[in-house]
Amino acid sequence: MSRTDRVEGTSIHRPPSIDRMANWPALAPLIDKVGRAPVVDALRAWAEARRGHADVGDAAACARWCEEKLASLAHPSQRRVFNLTGTVLHTNLGRALLAEEAIEAAVAAMRTPTTLEYDLADGGRGERDDHIAPWLCRLTGAEAATAVNNNAGAVLLALAALAAGREVIVSRGELIEIGGAFRIPDIMARAGCRLVEVGTTNRTHLKDYAAAIGPDTAAIMKVHPSNYAVQGFTSSVPAAELVPLAHEKGLPVIEDLGSGTLVDLETWGLPHEPTAREAVAAGIDVVTFSGDKLLGGPQAGLLVGKRSCIERIAKNPLKRALRLDKVRLAGLEATLRLYAAPERLVMRLPTIRTLARPAAEIHAQAERLLPAFAQVLGAAWQAGIRPVRGQIGSGALPVDLLPSFALTAKGRGLNGLAAALRALPIPVIGRIEDDTLLLDLRTLDDEAAFVAQLDRLAP
Ligand SMILES: *Cc1c(COP(=O)(O)O)cnc(C)c1O
Repeated sequence: MSRTDRVEGTSIHRPPSIDRMANWPALAPLIDKVGRAPVVDALRAWAEARRGHADVGDAAACARWCEEKLASLAHPSQRRVFNLTGTVLHTNLGRALLAEEAIEAAVAAMRTPTTLEYDLADGGRGERDDHIAPWLCRLTGAEAATAVNNNAGAVLLALAALAAGREVIVSRGELIEIGGAFRIPDIMARAGCRLVEVGTTNRTHLKDYAAAIGPDTAAIMKVHPSNYAVQGFTSSVPAAELVPLAHEKGLPVIEDLGSGTLVDLETWGLPHEPTAREAVAAGIDVVTFSGDKLLGGPQAGLLVGKRSCIERIAKNPLKRALRLDKVRLAGLEATLRLYAAPERLVMRLPTIRTLARPAAEIHAQAERLLPAFAQVLGAAWQAGIRPVRGQIGSGALPVDLLPSFALTAKGRGLNGLAAALRALPIPVIGRIEDDTLLLDLRTLDDEAAFVAQLDRLAP
């Protein structure tokens, strides 16, 4: 209890000393959870805020107040969410979900020392790339491979290693910007290369490239347009034509595939997306692509291609700055290993499993969920099911194309409903389209967890 002192004739409640408060048993669990220093700071704030109030010495009230104040410290900032946006590989929601095999491999690598750069045969130094390069070569047909932090890093490194201080020719139709400030001209400048633009936005011809080649040319670069499509009167030069021209002049061709994939998506009824193997077979010298887009692994930038180019890339000092750690290498290796049995990917790799999910199965799920969803929304909302089109996301195939089904809610105060969904214990992220809230169910795998928290939505 607080001491009551007489000061200038009035009675005020003075807080106990911070030290004494910090030893209150009521505060012990919080100190255990977040550490002593933040709690001491919170106690100072409490003493300041409650000075003169009767409860300033109330340990239980103080503990509750401090707990609330420090709530953000007690809970992780990065939280699990339900991605029901309709975009499977959602960059803001963390892109690919890893396969169980990859998760286990990553966790195991976290716990113990590993042979990251150690050769058990002779007890000498090993190469970290050796854990994934053989897999990448096998899966793409390339002579050599290496990996870095992400695909933006892979592009930067390839340009810096092969063309710093010199010119790189790129079609104007491929001078793209990807979300999150990845712009080809900027990356080119950072890599120390001079960009030489050829052709026009919609059409670039082989003769445009040929005319631009000069004594200072170091490479020709192709970029997958990823998040946009040029339609109508268009023309670009396929690798099969560009490569002979470049090689005749002794120049390497670098291709940024963006999402890139190791398997033909048509196997699962999806539109064709360029594979790394096709690029390698067309003679591209360095192919770069992401680890956490269609490949379905951890964040990484993969570089595959000709041995001479990959060796120069691996020796560049930037490689050291952009290299992968043992955890992601373990996850990546385990993911690549799954590709040895492509026919089983649909069961074992969440990205492929989600993309290949039949619309009929999603529809059945929507029908299962609708009654509970409609009930918690109550009479003020019109709940229903609607056929929708989702996206792969992360720059693959920009046009809406994944036939799916969404739970829908129509009514007044859509933004409020969206906010209430985001405030659930596992926040639910949907999208709003023509005055309707849509929850695309293609990406809902943990149906039980979704249903278990629905009750909390009730007004
Ligand atoms: C996504 C993408 C990148 C960036 O890849 P990150 O792995 O996110 O760094 C670069 N180029 C293209 C064409 C892309 O689609």
